[in-house]
Amino acid sequence: MNAYVESVIENVRKKNASEPEFIQTVEEVLSSLSPVVDKHPEYEKADLLNRMVNPERMFTFRVCWTDDNGVVHTNTGYRCQFNGAIGPYKGGLRFAPNVYPGMMKFLGFEQTFKNALTGLPMGGAKGGADFDPTGKSDAEIMRFCQSFMTALYRYIGPDVDVPAGDMGVGGREIGFLYGQYRRLKGVFENGVLTGKGQSYGGSLIRPEATGFGAIYYLNEVLKHEGESIEGKTIAISGFGNVAWGICKKAAQLGAKVVTLSGPDGYIYDKDGVCTEEKIKYMLEMRSSNRNRVQDYADKFGVEFFPGEKPWGQKVDIIMPAAMQNDVKMESAEKIVANKIKYYIEVANMPTTNDALNYLRSQKNMIVAPSKAVNAGGVGVSGLEMCQNSERLSWTAEEVDVQLHKMMETIHRVSAEAAAEYGLGYDLVAGANIAGFQKVATAMIEQGIF
Ligand code: GLU
Repeated sequence: MNAYVESVIENVRKKNASEPEFIQTVEEVLSSLSPVVDKHPEYEKADLLNRMVNPERMFTFRVCWTDDNGVVHTNTGYRCQFNGAIGPYKGGLRFAPNVYPGMMKFLGFEQTFKNALTGLPMGGAKGGADFDPTGKSDAEIMRFCQSFMTALYRYIGPDVDVPAGDMGVGGREIGFLYGQYRRLKGVFENGVLTGKGQSYGGSLIRPEATGFGAIYYLNEVLKHEGESIEGKTIAISGFGNVAWGICKKAAQLGAKVVTLSGPDGYIYDKDGVCTEEKIKYMLEMRSSNRNRVQDYADKFGVEFFPGEKPWGQKVDIIMPAAMQNDVKMESAEKIVANKIKYYIEVANMPTTNDALNYLRSQKNMIVAPSKAVNAGGVGVSGLEMCQNSERLSWTAEEVDVQLHKMMETIHRVSAEAAAEYGLGYDLVAGANIAGFQKVATAMIEQGIF
């Protein structure tokens, strides 16, 4: 490995010892960049990598709210404005009990490269709170969101930082957050958030975008291998918004998603999550706030495997779409033993680095990285920002065509970047290199800071 790259990774390990996910993502991204740094000595001269692994700005804030019984709760909110070199900071908000600074940093770092890959002018950011939405009433969610935005609104704006949803934050939360922003600022600046409802400037296809984009990307990979998506079986994890979009688009294209998972285990549906009724039921499961996938098995009479992950199933394609570190070495070994050819990451950093390296080292396996595969979500957020600044809305077809093109381009530029450095069809390294180069050029041109 290039000595400068190695020294930066070592610095990050030392300085961020209590933030294992952040170290993990830095190791993963930077290890792809060795050949690029070898070729561009100006990056080391400008100490570009040490600058890139430090967020430009990050803050925490207190979020107090009162539950339906009048009990006061205190949570911690975060916003990590990681890199603004190519556009306003952009990235989701995550509400989950395990949110901590290291998670905000890992997600913000990933987001910087992902957003660069979309080809749109968006910097990278992430935020959220250690708030657990499970079992909360609508009124409690509203009070939490209002309190959260009261602390955040001074630091965001359509040309400053544009939050959106992530785990635990969907259309309902974005509505409450935007209402409070408007109330506090007294302006209709709806470009400040994306993932909005259509009645106040949300984009058509935004709810579907991450899942649709993932399937469009998968389609490019299959085309590259001379195969078709029709008739393929897919195992996914998760049952939220992203999983829903995947099931919907896969069904439209004649593929079958046969597993869904939750914190309670996974379901196996041999007929596929393909009918309109099943796909619609996924939305009900999510909005019930019960966070249980067993409900699907009970309703449709399919198998349920309590406490297990779906990675032992023999399918054509694996798409982890739930959360970070969902696929560890033990699961990777099962995937390899089952001779599965396509491993397409969807959730942010769903694979531990040892498992990812093991999968990438398999001769007959194609591994695609989440920062490329799930970029359609934030990509359509970028299109929502365009529509808001133009004060008009595009049709679903117009947005879908743009999303499709974007995913084709992301796949192509990743493959080209890997080929340029003699790495063959390495989509993981290619995505890291392509995303990095765009941000690096902007940082160099803007001077040292
Ligand atoms: N949270 C999503 C992501 O990880 C969407 C972010 C956005 O739309 O800004 O990319």
